[in-house]
Amino acid sequence: MLKRFISYYKPHKKLFFIDMFFAFLVSTFDLIFPMFTRKMVNQIIPDGRMDLLLKWSIIMILLFIVRYISSYIVAYWGHLLGVKIEHDMRRDLFGHLQTLPFSYYDNTKTGHIMSRMVNDLRDITELAHHGPEDLFISLVMLLGSFFILLTIEWRLTLILFAFIPLMVLFTIKKREKMEDSFRKVRQEIADVNSQLENSISGIRVAKSFTNEDYEIEKFDKGNEAFSNARKESYKIMAEFITGIGIVSNILNLLVISIGGYFVYTNVIDIGDLFAYTLYVNFFMQPIRRLTEFTQQLQDGMTGFERFIEVMNISPDIVDKPDAIELNNIKGDIVFDNVSFSYDNGEGAVLSNVNLTIEEGKTIALVGPSGAGKTTLCHLIPRFYDINSGNIFIDGLNIKDIKLKSLRQNIGLVQQDVFLFTGTIRENILYGKPSATEAEVIDAAKKARIHDFIENLPNGYDTYIGEKGVMLSGGQKQRISIARLFLKNPPLLILDEATSALDNETETMIQRSLEELSKGRTTLVIAHRLSTIKNADEIIVLTARGIEERGNHEELLRKNGIYANLYNSQFKSLIN
Ligand code: ADP
Ligand code: MG
Repeated sequence: MLKRFISYYKPHKKLFFIDMFFAFLVSTFDLIFPMFTRKMVNQIIPDGRMDLLLKWSIIMILLFIVRYISSYIVAYWGHLLGVKIEHDMRRDLFGHLQTLPFSYYDNTKTGHIMSRMVNDLRDITELAHHGPEDLFISLVMLLGSFFILLTIEWRLTLILFAFIPLMVLFTIKKREKMEDSFRKVRQEIADVNSQLENSISGIRVAKSFTNEDYEIEKFDKGNEAFSNARKESYKIMAEFITGIGIVSNILNLLVISIGGYFVYTNVIDIGDLFAYTLYVNFFMQPIRRLTEFTQQLQDGMTGFERFIEVMNISPDIVDKPDAIELNNIKGDIVFDNVSFSYDNGEGAVLSNVNLTIEEGKTIALVGPSGAGKTTLCHLIPRFYDINSGNIFIDGLNIKDIKLKSLRQNIGLVQQDVFLFTGTIRENILYGKPSATEAEVIDAAKKARIHDFIENLPNGYDTYIGEKGVMLSGGQKQRISIARLFLKNPPLLILDEATSALDNETETMIQRSLEELSKGRTTLVIAHRLSTIKNADEIIVLTARGIEERGNHEELLRKNGIYANLYNSQFKSLIN
């Protein structure tokens, strides 16, 4: 774990050592400064050595300059180090997220991924940057001031250092409490946020049920709990600050009174006492820093553990070493005794499915909701791997084909279209980034969306999504179809592409889809009689598997499930 953490420093070794070096300079200077004061009070002022005053002042000014250049470098480059490490980790995480399979996203909430990207990485960076730096500076300061204090007056020093364990204990105890309360605050704000998100997403439902008051009441509870948690955390923080203040004042008081006695008895000089008071306040700081460091270490390491947890999930669907490229395929698809379940074995969604879709033919898949139609479609581009059996394309087992190549040959139209934030052109180009303008327009025409786009004020450069134009379901669907005309895959899967649309739009889109499926092997999940009737073969899939197959007339004659479905569902839709 630590090794993996350190590996992120490797590309930025130089920056790291520069940061450490200048941090060392800063702390050394801070250690030297009280010595100057001591010399001043002990020697320069009593002896009236103005020449020495001038000389030492110049030296100190020079040292000051070095110190502030150094501290600038530490403040800037040190943070830069953190930024770079965070950048690398974020890049790795994002890259890795792109490789993770559907099953990962089925079981992970977007909110969790977001918090990993944002909170965990921030905790890690804090540690990556401040951890080594703080640890190093604090140790130098603590040890340095301890030795210097020893050389000035060792008895006083030992008395003072007896306080350290007390302070550390107090700080750690309070910090623990503080951390608990901070954790509670974070928990509560996370709850408030998710409640907010949920309520806003559902605002239309809330309004239609006139449940606004209920929503407000629910929100108030979380909001209240959050405020209370913060109140508690500020109370503990106030206790901590007061406690530390008291201890440091006691220390100062001890130094002044015991030290004053030592000066009176001529054990030390007045300049020693002066320097002493300065040094005493020096080692308070590192102790506070060190306790903060333990916290930082904990947060950072927890963050890093979670980061590694995601990084260690391996994409389970990967190319075989000898995987082959699909070229100029004809596109017949064969399901050979295919069984699949989402949880590896239990609760099979598909069992022993046998199915052949011949080149260029259109197969319609019908059946009740939950029968596994979408699942079956997702197995062909290997969004999920089957548990047993084989799927062949042109006689090649899909597991022997390069994943990229396989997916490039398949076009998928889904019920819910997702368009990326960006312009309409960018969204169409998603199907083939290298396409020319003429190709884009041609695809849009075939998808029957060109005229609509042309009439927008910014045409193809119209921004869609947030802060852009709002598109209707049908318009989005047609853009997604244009995307597929550009991609031009030999295999086509249409998963209830028109079921969320009104009748008129549906007819339009139906035409574009028919055009799209010309000359392509097409698997269509349909709820619309005209599509089903035109299919070369109809497959009836239920929870028990494939129950009937044949063309429309054959199945009607059979008077089975399809005939039943037809009578109850399709007949009312006059097509
Ligand atoms: P259809 O498209 O025919 O309505 P689906 O293929 O969507 O049916 O679903 C078939 C079965 O698989 C259902 O019981 C559904 O609950 C289950 N299922 C669908 N998607 C997932 C998933 N990502 N993880 C687990 N189970 C799923
Ligand atoms: Mg479905």
